[in-house]
Amino acid sequence: MHITAKTKKVGLLGWPLGHSLSPAMHNAAFAVSGLDYVYLPLSTPPDLLPQAVAGIKALGFVGVNVTIPHKVTIMDYLDEVDTSAKLVGAVNTIVVKEERLIGYNTDADGYIRSLEQAGIAVAGKSAVIFGAGGAARAVIAGLASANIASVTIGARDQSKADGIAQLFAGTVPVNGVAWDSNAFAAALSQTNLVVNATPLGMYPAIASQPSVHWDLLQQSVAISDLVYNPPITGFIAEGTRRGHTVVGGAGMLIEQGALAFELWTGCKADTQVMRQALLAGLEAINKN
Ligand code: NAP
Repeated sequence: MHITAKTKKVGLLGWPLGHSLSPAMHNAAFAVSGLDYVYLPLSTPPDLLPQAVAGIKALGFVGVNVTIPHKVTIMDYLDEVDTSAKLVGAVNTIVVKEERLIGYNTDADGYIRSLEQAGIAVAGKSAVIFGAGGAARAVIAGLASANIASVTIGARDQSKADGIAQLFAGTVPVNGVAWDSNAFAAALSQTNLVVNATPLGMYPAIASQPSVHWDLLQQSVAISDLVYNPPITGFIAEGTRRGHTVVGGAGMLIEQGALAFELWTGCKADTQVMRQALLAGLEAINKN
């Protein structure tokens, strides 16, 4: 990578950044695109977020990604928040345009793109989601924009599932239930898509899985896991073994990144190159 004073800067605001693979994914995509950009990890403790946001403008960044723990608090410092981010309630991408900071959320559309690439269509269908956190909210926003007919959220704490259901009132019918209830089992027996939006199955606790009653599922049901480390989780492996169409979390991670790349550069990202960089990075992390 040849960095000069003309090189355009983007980066990632988060704390701690630990093993984030976004720099590797984006820099690989910039390298093959021929675009003169660099993606930098920008570790930002919560109490220094206002200064970091001012720094984005002062240092001439084209934009940044935003991750935990800043995805919600960052909204207080932006000049404009796009409807994508309003629906999800969080910003994961900022574009600096004429010295104004505009916040977007590419997780929802990135999720839908990952389903499309696996041949999974959701318009008029129903989905069951395990988990009631930020990722579930992004998934529902994506499914709503892709015209899903109904969503059931199952959580270990029903009040959290109810809370998310209320946020989407008026956009798509969302029902919050406890995942050990009969209502949840009934939803599983009728659904077209089952999504794991919990950390269950994530490295190093790879033996854990959402408690799906597999025998209730129709054969045509698609299985989606947001966990991307490991790329093939126990949930995805079991879905494959039972003959379901499956899509792992790497697809969403890559596509949300590709959408941010498009917002910053106006060009399409090479998602195959991003995938290779992500998988190589995961392999290196899991070896250590
Ligand atoms: P979150 O806000 O912390 O929510 C996690 C949800 O899972 C909550 O409902 C939580 O329940 C539940 N949960 C957590 N640990 C659990 C356990 N041991 N057993 C049962 N339920 C548990 O997290 P998030 O941001 O939504 O992320 C969820 C997962 O999605 C993470 O693995 C994350 O890496 C992944 N993700 C992937 C992508 C991608 O691009 N592929 C994007 C975003 C997130 P309580 O509220 O009761 O704790």
